[in-house]
Amino acid sequence: MVDHLANTEINSQRIATVENCFGASGQPLAVPGRVLLGEGILTKECRKKPKPRIFFLFNDILVYGSIVINKRKYNSQHIIPLEDVTLETLPDTLQMKNRWMIKTSKKSFVVSAASLTERKEWISHLEECIRHLLTKTGRQPSTEHAAPWIPDKATDICMRCTQTKFSTLTRRHHCRKCGFVVCGDCSKQKFLMPRLSPKPLRVCSLCYRQLMAEEKQEGGDQRQPEQIHSAKPRNSQKSSSFVN
Ligand SMILES: [Zn+2]
Ligand SMILES: [Zn+2]
Repeated sequence: MVDHLANTEINSQRIATVENCFGASGQPLAVPGRVLLGEGILTKECRKKPKPRIFFLFNDILVYGSIVINKRKYNSQHIIPLEDVTLETLPDTLQMKNRWMIKTSKKSFVVSAASLTERKEWISHLEECIRHLLTKTGRQPSTEHAAPWIPDKATDICMRCTQTKFSTLTRRHHCRKCGFVVCGDCSKQKFLMPRLSPKPLRVCSLCYRQLMAEEKQEGGDQRQPEQIHSAKPRNSQKSSSFVN
C-alpha cells in the first residue's frame, strides 16, 4: 500500500490543498495515517441528469463534491467510509460508458469514467483500499446496500402501477427501498428503515407490503454478498491520477 506516505510532508500538502478547495463548505480531512491516493473527475448519474463531480480517494474514505472551478473551488462535499463500500461494474448505456456502481448502506449511486482504463484504475485502487481496511479491522465486506435511485428521465410512467403518466402536475417520487420512480398514489406510505435514516421514508406500495411482512416475521432479508471484481494492473493516466 502507500502507508509510507502517511504523515509525510507531501501527503499533508496534498490533503491541505483539497481542504482549501472545499473551504468552509467541507470537513477537515487531515487525520493521522490518512493518505490521499488519487483524484479525478467522474460523471455521477444524478436524479435529473448525469453531472461531473470531483472525487478524491483516500486510504480510508472517498470524498466527492461539486466543481465550482476545477482545481480551485469545490462544494457540496460528501464523505464515504470505504469500509462500507462495495462496487459493481455496469454495462454501457447509450449515453454513459465505463460505468460502475458505488454501493453503501446509506446511499448507492452510479458513476462513469472517461475511459475504460480509468474505470479499471479507479476500481482497482478502491478495491485495494477496501481490502486493506477490512483486513485491518477484521470486518466482513458489507452485504446490505441502499438501492440506487432510478433517474427521473428513465421513465414517463409510474414504475409500480404503470398507469400514471408524469407531467408538471403529476410529480415523480422515489421509493427509498427499491429506488423506483413512482406516483403519489403508489407511494402513500412511509416506513422506518434505521439503516437509511432515523425518520420514516417514502416507500412504494410493493416495498411497503414486503417490509410489513418482513417485520411480522422479524427476520431481515439476507442478500448474497456483493461481487468483488478482480483488480487489474494500472495503466497510463488521463483525467484521474493516483500516487504510488
Ligand atoms: Zn403509480
Ligand atoms: Zn419500492
